[in-house]
Amino acid sequence: MSIAENIARVRANIAAAAKEAGRKPEDVLLVGASKMNDAAACREAVAAGIDALGENRVQEMTAKLAEDAYRGAPLHFIGHLQRNKVRQVVGRADLIQSVGSLALLDEIEKAAAKLEIVQDILLEVNVAGEEAKSGFSPEELPSGALAALEREHVRVLGLMTIPPADAEREANLRYFDKVRALFVDMEEKLFHNGLQYLSMGMSGDYEDAIRAGATMVRVGTAIFGSRHYV
Ligand SMILES: *Cc1c(COP(=O)(O)O)cnc(C)c1O
Repeated sequence: MSIAENIARVRANIAAAAKEAGRKPEDVLLVGASKMNDAAACREAVAAGIDALGENRVQEMTAKLAEDAYRGAPLHFIGHLQRNKVRQVVGRADLIQSVGSLALLDEIEKAAAKLEIVQDILLEVNVAGEEAKSGFSPEELPSGALAALEREHVRVLGLMTIPPADAEREANLRYFDKVRALFVDMEEKLFHNGLQYLSMGMSGDYEDAIRAGATMVRVGTAIFGSRHYV
């Protein structure tokens, strides 16, 4: 299957899930998670109409930017971002999806202020409170959102989450529901219905995520095939 065929199949599945949830297919953005795939694969996805491409390693993103891999589609940063690499991402990624701590938020604010831009971000929720994972816990999220609102050079567009990799389907669904509830609550109370994106769902669970309210899914292997780690 080619990348274009895979995207068409994923789009059809997205449309069906959106319909089941009483929503329009175009209300769900498809982000291609292109890590470990080369610039040619990225260009193929752009040509096939992907809504955005997401990278999760700074070094790889920088190399592929130099190859002009993303021309024609917005670029998202979706991986764990170390504070000392923030300057390589701010102003280059259209959306940083993985802002999961106050320290990272401040570093992004500083870098964006220096460039005199406003950086669009999502706040990442560590929904299961996993030790090894970054992200605001559900309890910390309101203070993270307030802190972001106070900073002039970041703009919060929504939430992102990655549930525990080993969660059974039922537990996974509960995590999606929980983050959806956090999104609705935060949107009403702090953003006055001004949030756009609820980013959740990957190759194995994007249809469940859409039925639970996702407006953005990040799909890697179902589009690009399995990754070959070196
Ligand atoms: C790789 C990745 C994805 C996509 O994962 P697949 O299971 O290959 O679809 C989604 N989100 C993030 C943050 C990723 O790093």
